[in-house]
Amino acid sequence: MEKYNMPYHLLIDGKLVDGASSLDVINPATGQVFETCARASEKQLEEAVVAAKRAFPAWAALSHPQRRTYLLKLAEAIEARHSEFATLLTREQGKPLPHAAGEVSYAIGALRHFADIDLPVQTRRDTADGRVLEQRTPLGVVGAITPWNFPVALLLIKIAPGLITGNTMVVKPAPTTPLTTALLGEIACDILPPGVLNVIIDANDLGGKITAHPDIAKVTFTGSSATGKHVMASAADTVKRLTLELGGNDAAIILDDVDIKDVAHKVFTAGMLNSGQICLAAKRIYAPRAIYDEICDELGQLAQQAVVNDGLLDGTEIGPVQNKQQYEKVLGFIKTAREQGTVVAGGEALPQDGYFIKPTIIRDIADDAPLVREEQFGPVIPVLAYDTIEDVIERVNNSDFGLGGTIWTKNVDRGLDIALRIQSGTVWVNKHLDIPYDTPYGGAKQSGFGCESGIEGLKEFTQLKIINIATNATA
Ligand code: ADP
Repeated sequence: MEKYNMPYHLLIDGKLVDGASSLDVINPATGQVFETCARASEKQLEEAVVAAKRAFPAWAALSHPQRRTYLLKLAEAIEARHSEFATLLTREQGKPLPHAAGEVSYAIGALRHFADIDLPVQTRRDTADGRVLEQRTPLGVVGAITPWNFPVALLLIKIAPGLITGNTMVVKPAPTTPLTTALLGEIACDILPPGVLNVIIDANDLGGKITAHPDIAKVTFTGSSATGKHVMASAADTVKRLTLELGGNDAAIILDDVDIKDVAHKVFTAGMLNSGQICLAAKRIYAPRAIYDEICDELGQLAQQAVVNDGLLDGTEIGPVQNKQQYEKVLGFIKTAREQGTVVAGGEALPQDGYFIKPTIIRDIADDAPLVREEQFGPVIPVLAYDTIEDVIERVNNSDFGLGGTIWTKNVDRGLDIALRIQSGTVWVNKHLDIPYDTPYGGAKQSGFGCESGIEGLKEFTQLKIINIATNATA
């Protein structure tokens, strides 16, 4: 075993290497540095791209069963270290340990699901005049840029389809949650051929270099809409393929026929899971005026009862906000919302170390308040009253975002009628965050474009090529 100066490394060209410098990683439950990892220089990013480019022809030339075997080995090796992954995820990200374990399982499942899918040449037309074939070829080097809310799930949902289709990759986590990605690199180092997967860790300074790099064919990005716009601009020069999974401001629409206690509980979870740090979280709740008070009271009680603590401790339901910058941003939303609405529950930080915020419910707040219009990405939810279905649909659609949304009703037909009129990439009726691997998800409007998961998400890692043959004519 070679000796490394830092416990968490970059993976470049099949070797685990120290960074040109280092990066301190903070546990959001304490606010203290708990680990140090390698931080790449621009030169190291360049080495990673060169290695991925060099590895591409041989990896692309493998058969589907050969690449499948590699991916299944990777899944098995991650599974063998499942609890280490989950604990590390909680320590760097903050989420409760059972949720971290669920995230790791989801990521392993993604590897196994996509490993099984081949995209062979398809015949689109076969007539007396000729044949039209569709081939799906890999793109080359793919850059994957991931955020800090689901560092493991969102990484593997990119790596699995990216590699199985024959691309090689350079992946870069968010600087505040780099360790699980580094651990994946350590595992992949022993399994994948050199250069097929490279891990680069930065301090928010190399993302732009990836998106502008002439030898990177595609970038798959998950992050905020603001950063997504930079990605799009910097990818223009090289006409890079892009998948952009950006922000959301998803509405939860409660109809007047629901069991209030039951639905309040489900909507609360939809808003507060992962401390509200989910692109697809319920970020504004609309309730009929007739049951508005009751819904607000129920949500307020749930907020007061929720156990907010270090994710490593048994019984924790809501962990800290992931990083200081986001913590301050969410407290800023709360401060403004206090002046513009009524606090039903929460409304402040917890008086302890770490980035803990009490789950907060705000009512009687106007549609144009920042907490309603913008993406708060934290444990604070506005609840708004509506009078008619037309009124609520119009207010929900009046947004620059269009990622997801939920509708809650005893009458599925009513739910479906409304779902058909919501402008977003996904609408759930009576459920939330159900994203099976065979079902794509992606954004409408400024929530991004392209999609992940499903056969559609897989195809985004390929070039569509048509071969059109005249069968009767000879050249
Ligand atoms: P947040 O604003 O919540 O921190 P971001 O959307 O900025 O989230 O971050 C998501 C990912 O995008 C991270 O890996 C981050 O390092 C990366 N990133 C930040 N700036 C850029 C950029 N200009 N180009 C590409 N990626 C970037």
